[in-house]
Amino acid sequence: MDPDEFRRAGHAVIDWIADYWATLEQRPVAPADPPGTVAAALPASPPTACEPVEAVLADLDAIVVPGLTHWQHPGFFGYFPANTSGPSLLGDLVSSGLGVQGMLWASSPACTELETVMMDWLAQLLDLPQRFRSSGSGGGVIQDSASSATLVATLAALHRASGGRWRDAGIDRRYRAYTSVHGHSSIEKAVRITGLGSDGVRPIEADPETLALRPAALRAAIEADLAAGEIPAIVVATIGTTSTTAIDPLPEIGAICAEYGIWLHVDAAYAGAAAVCPELRWSHAGLEYADSYCFDPHKWLLTGFDCDAFWVADRGELVEALTVLPEFLRNAASESGAVIDYRDWQVPLGRRFRALKLWFVLRWYGAEGLRAHIRSGVALAARFADRVRADGRFELAAAHPFSLVCFRLHADDDTNAELLARVNGTGRVHLTHTRVAGRYTLRLAVGSPQTAERHVDEAWELLTAAADNLLRP
Ligand SMILES: *Cc1c(COP(=O)(O)O)cnc(C)c1O
Repeated sequence: MDPDEFRRAGHAVIDWIADYWATLEQRPVAPADPPGTVAAALPASPPTACEPVEAVLADLDAIVVPGLTHWQHPGFFGYFPANTSGPSLLGDLVSSGLGVQGMLWASSPACTELETVMMDWLAQLLDLPQRFRSSGSGGGVIQDSASSATLVATLAALHRASGGRWRDAGIDRRYRAYTSVHGHSSIEKAVRITGLGSDGVRPIEADPETLALRPAALRAAIEADLAAGEIPAIVVATIGTTSTTAIDPLPEIGAICAEYGIWLHVDAAYAGAAAVCPELRWSHAGLEYADSYCFDPHKWLLTGFDCDAFWVADRGELVEALTVLPEFLRNAASESGAVIDYRDWQVPLGRRFRALKLWFVLRWYGAEGLRAHIRSGVALAARFADRVRADGRFELAAAHPFSLVCFRLHADDDTNAELLARVNGTGRVHLTHTRVAGRYTLRLAVGSPQTAERHVDEAWELLTAAADNLLRP
């Protein structure tokens, strides 16, 4: 594909995406076809002769799009949002076009320097503690996901807890990680990857009312482990749990970590974006205790997957834990100590130029545009929660500090599961579920940039219509 062929096909693809976004609302949010439908419609073997891009686009429309759940659809309320946006896509396109590798500063200097500045910009936007800024001993890096951030934080924490022995001698099974029973599954996965096994994670009881980790239970677990000769290495606290957006009490948890010298990682994958709004920064109180912190601009900050923003207070510890230096990567800039080599801040060696999409997004929207996006999500969730509160047949299952509302019918689990199936079956909206205190609970997470009041109102109308039918004697 020469540059002229690329230009022509590229314009067609951009047109295709613009048309897709413009017509999203007319499509069913999720497909109803059985498993295997998409695979059966594809040829069993790759083409022998070359094919034009137009032929691929035609099959995209005919085969792929009908098999998609449309995450950018204004009626998509499932899981947490995974926002993308025009500027994000364009920045990613430039990144793909440049095709550079940013593993070392020397392997493409602007790739590293733009990333460092973007992470400092984001730290300012969220008003993160000074210790995370690159001007001091800390700094930020883009990971592919919050799961990777947790893994990297766990490795650095083990490095610290073992006095550096872990790196060369391997793991000894006495190290322990702590998180609320509502901590994300990626924490157990990270601990398993380190070789500690799932038993290395201590699930800490949460308050039944706030669903937040109970500091007294954390202290008791640490004391019990110390008494048994185990070594507490890391606590992972959450701002905005995946199930209900509960907020762990960082001031108390941080004080405990400081007292015992335990690494504190704060996982704010979804809710961290809220801190661009000064009125929502109360959710980050106590963050000055954290050794590391992450949130996903790819969830609620209009930046396409993958983009997890991860900061550490002491980049030296992280680099020491992860660095391996083969001869073929040696270079004068790295040896001078004057540059950052992000390969030492993550699991893979290679890394693409993800800072570009952040740069495009931050410049296109500005702080005010990003705040408007977050405020719109919070206001739409509040509007929906008001409807739930006003209808005696429903109840709210948890607080809704951000843009997720957890609710259910005053009815048994099967009836609530049937309610979810029926509203999703309309193809107009897509919600998912969780369990709160063991009970089946529906989740409505606002987040698509196209979602407006009328979409949230439609979701409520569909829910009440389905409830009318289900509760009819
Ligand atoms: C979504 C989520 C994660 C995982 O995010 P990825 O970036 O997809 O790995 C981790 N923690 C919390 C609290 C989440 O909500």
